[in-house]
Amino acid sequence: MSFSSETKTELSELPLGETCCITAECYGMLLFCREFGERRIRIVTESEAVARRFRELCKALFSLSPKAAQSISSEKLEIIISGDDAERIFSFFGHDETQVSTRVNSDIVFSQCCRKSFLRGAYITGGSVTDPNSGYHLEISTPLFNLSNDAADIMTSLGLSPKRIKRGGKNIVYFKSSEEIEDFLNNTGAVSSAFRLMEVKVMKDVRNRINRLNNCDSFNISRSINAGVEQSEIIRRTLETKGKSHFPQELRELALLRAENPEVSLRELGEMLEKPLSKSGVSHKMRRIMEYTE
Ligand SMILES: [Zn+2]
Repeated sequence: MSFSSETKTELSELPLGETCCITAECYGMLLFCREFGERRIRIVTESEAVARRFRELCKALFSLSPKAAQSISSEKLEIIISGDDAERIFSFFGHDETQVSTRVNSDIVFSQCCRKSFLRGAYITGGSVTDPNSGYHLEISTPLFNLSNDAADIMTSLGLSPKRIKRGGKNIVYFKSSEEIEDFLNNTGAVSSAFRLMEVKVMKDVRNRINRLNNCDSFNISRSINAGVEQSEIIRRTLETKGKSHFPQELRELALLRAENPEVSLRELGEMLEKPLSKSGVSHKMRRIMEYTE
């Protein structure tokens, strides 16, 4: 199951709230579903849980149990309500077909609890979220401009900061940062999904930090190899022009070892000595060797 489907399943399995919130959630689902009109209501979903949720809400509000059927054109489930039932639901929410554009009936989303429930419904039918492993993006879309404005206002009233864009005839309200998506999910009640998102983010951050450290390590390694190569060349040149005896007895062994082994680290050089020496001991001697090469 995709992360998006997981969030919707979680939301669909939350216990039903107070009547005011049941109303608001059902309203959100209807406004952002495929078709919400006086003559026909049509909800299309991939998820059994979502279909079940809509049935539960309809049962509580309208004593209706609309059946979900496999859509003819796709694998998806489709719930269709028509005739008197559609008309009754449409007018229950205060809508009539003469309205120029669909707006959110503000009476239904008056309380904060109801605004959260409304967004839950809207997200279930009109929203989606990207798997946090591949990026951070959550959106709710609708072809209706004013409706998307109203949804954005409701989000803002809850302290969220949605962004807006028009894409392919759709008005999209979206979030792009992990914190905002987490906030949105928490507000709608998808607490486990919000936690999963946070977990993935922490893992990703840790992985990035390890990668950065690794890169840094290999940078240091290549830097020390370069230093070794340079030391080796300088010592060789001195050996060619002035001979071994140019280096004092106590430095000679190390100077010769370095000349022969440009790529090994100071620590390794120390271990190669007849009387092994610590890295700092080697470093100190190497500085003295370099003074003799000038
Ligand atoms: Zn409420």
